[in-house]
Amino acid sequence: MDFSADERFALQLDADDPLRSFREKFHLPLGNDGKPLIYLAGNSLGLMPKSAKEIVEQELDDWARLAVDAHLGAKTPWYSYHETLREPAARLIGAQPNEVICMNSLTVNLHLMMATFYRPTKARFKILMEEPAFPSDTYAVKSQIVHHGLDPKEALVLARPRDGELTVRSDDIDEALAKHGDQIALVLFAGVNFFTGQLFDIAKITAAAQKRGCMVGIDLAHAIGNVPLALHNWNVDFAVWCSYKYLNAGPGAVAGAFVHERHATNRELPRLAGWFGNDPATRFRLHLEPEFIPVASADAWQISNPPIFSMAPLRASLSIFDEAGGMETLRAKSIKLTGYLQFLIESNRPSNAGAARTSDPTVITPREPNERGCQLSILVHEHPKELFKELEAAGVKCDFREPNVIRAAPTPLYNTFHEVWRFAHILAEHR
Ligand SMILES: *Cc1c(COP(=O)(O)O)cnc(C)c1O
Repeated sequence: MDFSADERFALQLDADDPLRSFREKFHLPLGNDGKPLIYLAGNSLGLMPKSAKEIVEQELDDWARLAVDAHLGAKTPWYSYHETLREPAARLIGAQPNEVICMNSLTVNLHLMMATFYRPTKARFKILMEEPAFPSDTYAVKSQIVHHGLDPKEALVLARPRDGELTVRSDDIDEALAKHGDQIALVLFAGVNFFTGQLFDIAKITAAAQKRGCMVGIDLAHAIGNVPLALHNWNVDFAVWCSYKYLNAGPGAVAGAFVHERHATNRELPRLAGWFGNDPATRFRLHLEPEFIPVASADAWQISNPPIFSMAPLRASLSIFDEAGGMETLRAKSIKLTGYLQFLIESNRPSNAGAARTSDPTVITPREPNERGCQLSILVHEHPKELFKELEAAGVKCDFREPNVIRAAPTPLYNTFHEVWRFAHILAEHR
């Protein structure tokens, strides 16, 4: 698509945007001037859906009114509350409903998945990850390795960007698999890297890793609600995600896990168990049933009874994704919105009519739409912290990653083309 840096063009894109009314469904934080901030931090904490309040209040009312009877008698019975999240979450990741369970938080789910899918042997004990991975994932992985009596120095293999590059090349992932594949127990990759915004080719990595006998887990923290996914068809073994980033379900919201059907229906797999992973038919026989009988679905990994107050906002949020027409519709706008932002960053060079200076901020996120989601990571060569402070003062909410990267994530549900235009102008004025 041909973009124009003209302000009227941005306004026209908004006028033509079939999703423009969705912004109204969210609370927009205001700046000191009383006007909405340019909120580009949805990759960190998504905005609050207005419908979240009502849905949480319903649960509080049901608690007040019914107490223990709300387990079965609430408007949405608490006993099976997690089931209401299953199908909408499955639609977002391209899964079958029996492959999805919304529970816990992300890192906890990663541990639970590794308890089942990282079973190192003498011959096959390594884990392959990308670098830089999110620290929580690295801590989880290293502690699992140590938990099995192994040494991360030997067991952890990293696929790194080459010297002078910032994103990981697909060839280098292949090479790591070729070199270590028969010793790798688990390949754990992000769907979208938190730092660079690089979207990995999950289908390709999965096929290559499984050909060498490795299990494949995907961390979808920055991918769910951002890019279309097809985990079932891609044959991914397991995945985990959180719900407070692009899913807008609020701080510490209930996270999720995907277990491919071929594992989810296998009751023989080792796992860490609790009563809510047990077959509901015998769950309430309590002390009469000392033997754990897992449900033949992803629910078998659920340990405890569902935390209603942190699930309620997720229900509100998932229904907005459905109403918007799902990820394909959102992605069409997202590609345009992010492409427009990159175009503006690269064309707003008032000093010398478009020619790049080495001091200009550089987008390090891959340029191809199929290699990124909505986030652009912008490398700032000169005075990055000062620039970030100036953006904040000008009413932009984005985030700063040490030492010199600003991450900006325009989301298709609530950001506008005109906001992106204003952000690019503020960036150009202050750099
Ligand atoms: C946001 C994020 C996390 C956060 O983990 P929590 O357990 O939700 O605190 C972990 N990993 C990745 C890749 C993330 O982006």
